[in-house]
Amino acid sequence: MTDKNTRNEKMEAIVSLAKRRGFIYPGSDVYGGLSGTWDYGPLGVTLKRNIMQLWWKMFVQDREDMYGIDAAILMNQKVWKASGHVDTFTDPLVEDLETHMRYRADHLVKDAGFAADGLTMGELNELIIEKEIKSPDGNDLSDVRTFNMMFKTNVGPVDDELSVSYLRPETAQGIFTNYKNVLDSFYPDLPFGLAQQGKAFRNEISPRDFIFRSREFEQMEIEYFIDPATWEVEFEKWIALVHDWTDALGLPAESIHELEVEEADRAHYSKRTVDFEFDFPIGREELLGLAYRTDFDLGNISREAGKNMEYTVKGTNTKFVPHVIEPSFGVERALMAVLSAAYTEDEVNGEKRTYLKLPTHLAPVQYAVSPLLKNKPELVAKAREVYTILKKKYGNVMWDDNGNIGKRYRRQDEIGTPYCVVVDFETLEDNAVTIRERDTTDQKRVAISELG
Ligand code: ATP
Repeated sequence: MTDKNTRNEKMEAIVSLAKRRGFIYPGSDVYGGLSGTWDYGPLGVTLKRNIMQLWWKMFVQDREDMYGIDAAILMNQKVWKASGHVDTFTDPLVEDLETHMRYRADHLVKDAGFAADGLTMGELNELIIEKEIKSPDGNDLSDVRTFNMMFKTNVGPVDDELSVSYLRPETAQGIFTNYKNVLDSFYPDLPFGLAQQGKAFRNEISPRDFIFRSREFEQMEIEYFIDPATWEVEFEKWIALVHDWTDALGLPAESIHELEVEEADRAHYSKRTVDFEFDFPIGREELLGLAYRTDFDLGNISREAGKNMEYTVKGTNTKFVPHVIEPSFGVERALMAVLSAAYTEDEVNGEKRTYLKLPTHLAPVQYAVSPLLKNKPELVAKAREVYTILKKKYGNVMWDDNGNIGKRYRRQDEIGTPYCVVVDFETLEDNAVTIRERDTTDQKRVAISELG
């Protein structure tokens, strides 16, 4: 494992490349930024969509037991009271007594080299006092208090308690509130799942580490409804499916780690949670989570909304409230893992080269097409022909005729384009082009009719 400085250097290199080459920009940058928000540029939005579409295909389209939904972000405040978010969706906050900057107490404790997982507020407080933990500026800290991470807002023109709502801090509740709707429209057999992708918002005390901890991010979540008697078997199946997903992202198997979350650290409703961690350049951190949520959420809805959430086994009178297994995937963390795994430095012909070894199916540009010389109309015309063929077929194809060929290759390497196609004078004779492969830099001649 590399030391912290080398790791941070890699992170900085990725952040800088992401900005320079149009993947990810700091949010509201022209106005001085807005902490914890990020904007996706032309390449970033394509990479992000490729990841989200891959997920949708793998977990919704390719399966018979999965139903996709897209619920509203704003929900009735009763949802967040019943789910426990209003009372308990909190992080421990401390304040620097000099600068009044606020920090997550558990992060400061961890940064000081002590274990913080599962500690109560009181225990964190004691540890901070006992170990004389200071703020990053070296100042004394306030007592630890809880801070609710939901963004509060009012829906409608009246600003009172009844109009209070929240930007959803997870997509899961929009699934639970639609469980009965889908059950009544489609009569699925158990087990079946509802899947949703979309924005989630958390007022993180200290957003950090690029897009890893943002205040606005996207989740891809599944609530998989099961017969409680089968939960152990179903949970194991989901562990295997999560590994299929990280493989499909091109993440090396040895960089994925399963962390069995101890009872003290689990949400109170969870009987088993496995966090899947990834070796990010910032260290080993949570990529996604898998939890057995029992009937906690459907039970809450039955109780608080007075609606029957039971499932009737077809052809019988057997009824029960299904239990739930929830794989919860973060889009930003997937994207950051993909970029981290892809970022590579090597040497070509004695020169340092930086490239993104992105899997072809995720790369924002799959082919870059160029004429060998841009001032030769016959080459340009032929290259435009090739470009049009590939563009129609693949969509994510770029026209690139800037600078000399060597510079074009380097530019495309840096954004992870797997193939560069060059039209030269020979093409006019033999209707073949040169394809240059990103990882090996090998070049070969391919007939235009065989492209792709
Ligand atoms: P952490 O412990 O890192 O704060 P969490 O356990 O609170 O994460 P969950 O509530 O389980 O996260 O959310 C499910 C997934 O959503 C996470 O595994 C992660 O991929 C993503 N996620 C959660 N919070 C953020 C955030 N602030 N920024 C980006 N992604 C996030």
